[in-house]
Amino acid sequence: MEENQSEQFTPLSKLGEFGLIEHLTKRFPLRNGSSIKGIGDDAAVLEMLDKHTVVSTDMLVEGVHFDFTYVPPQHLGYKAVVVNLSDIYAMNAKPTQILVSIAISNRFGIEFVEQIYDGIRLACDVYDVDLVGGDTSTSYSGLTISITAIGEAAEDELVYRNGSKATDLLVVSGDLGGAYLGLQLLEREKSVFEVDKNMQPDLSGNEYVLERQLKPEARKDIHELLKGLDLKPTSMIDISDGLSSEVIHLCKQSKTGVQLYEEKIPIDNNVYSLCEEFQLTTTTVALNGGEDYELLFTVDLSDHDKIKGNPNLSIIGHMTAESEGMNLVTKDLKSIPLSAQGWDAMMDKKA
Ligand code: ADP
Ligand code: MG
Repeated sequence: MEENQSEQFTPLSKLGEFGLIEHLTKRFPLRNGSSIKGIGDDAAVLEMLDKHTVVSTDMLVEGVHFDFTYVPPQHLGYKAVVVNLSDIYAMNAKPTQILVSIAISNRFGIEFVEQIYDGIRLACDVYDVDLVGGDTSTSYSGLTISITAIGEAAEDELVYRNGSKATDLLVVSGDLGGAYLGLQLLEREKSVFEVDKNMQPDLSGNEYVLERQLKPEARKDIHELLKGLDLKPTSMIDISDGLSSEVIHLCKQSKTGVQLYEEKIPIDNNVYSLCEEFQLTTTTVALNGGEDYELLFTVDLSDHDKIKGNPNLSIIGHMTAESEGMNLVTKDLKSIPLSAQGWDAMMDKKA
């Protein structure tokens, strides 16, 4: 473990700002018909025809959101795109373009920044989006990357956080808690390494959670699945902060309550075993961990048949009248109020 600087180090100053932009962006073809003008002019030009345009932005700051001790630059580029696309899918829209702004200190060489763009390019390929612009700046401390994602949807396809109603089913894609445990594992190995620089990390057997943390995916497949099922959720949000806080967002904006069943929360086996090791409860990790980038949505009861038995979707509860409150029904059938604990409460030891 050490900062992932590649063997070669060419200072950024060698190319200058314009040379660097040109070098980084030359391998990005435009593939969407809506991208009329990409990089190279004062602004990009898009044409969304009869669709609505969806726009979202997210910034990742070195030392706050990521640590180059264990985050390879390609993964940072990939993840920075994915977290933005996840927001577009959460509107039930299709992402089409991104803009990438980076601030870089001279601690980084051209090769390193190029690797970040390799990750960005891979994400553009996988998710079929065009890089159409951005901005480049010097930084005195570390690296910041800010991405804006643009997407499109027909007006009647858009799904907001505020559309759920009492009796709707609450559904989540995939499984939860993996990304948080991946981070715990990487942080633990980092502290071991800091004490003894000869120690190499022991991460085998935990590939699943590491991938969830380092190379997350946005649920393009769920967006397409819902379209194929002709199923429009009544409300939707992506899970960036943790299930608990996202459920609360849906309830507050929709003015509903919720019954969330602990027993129904989908957890991977790798998460179960690491929770044992770290003495954490899986439910706490799923509720408060965050960064899973799954989709959380509500559907009308009459759509139950469309989702039932789908291995990618779990029905984890149902909405209620606002007056009934937001509750977690535990495995022993106690009803406790949901709270948005966030990261701090995570370090509580298993009871
Ligand atoms: P301006 O001076 O008008 O802001 P720039 O010289 O910053 O223009 O950018 C020139 C072109 O390169 C623009 O199309 C801009 O969107 C694009 N661009 C600049 N930086 C980046 C970047 N880091 N990634 C992708 N495109 C970029
Ligand atoms: Mg600029």
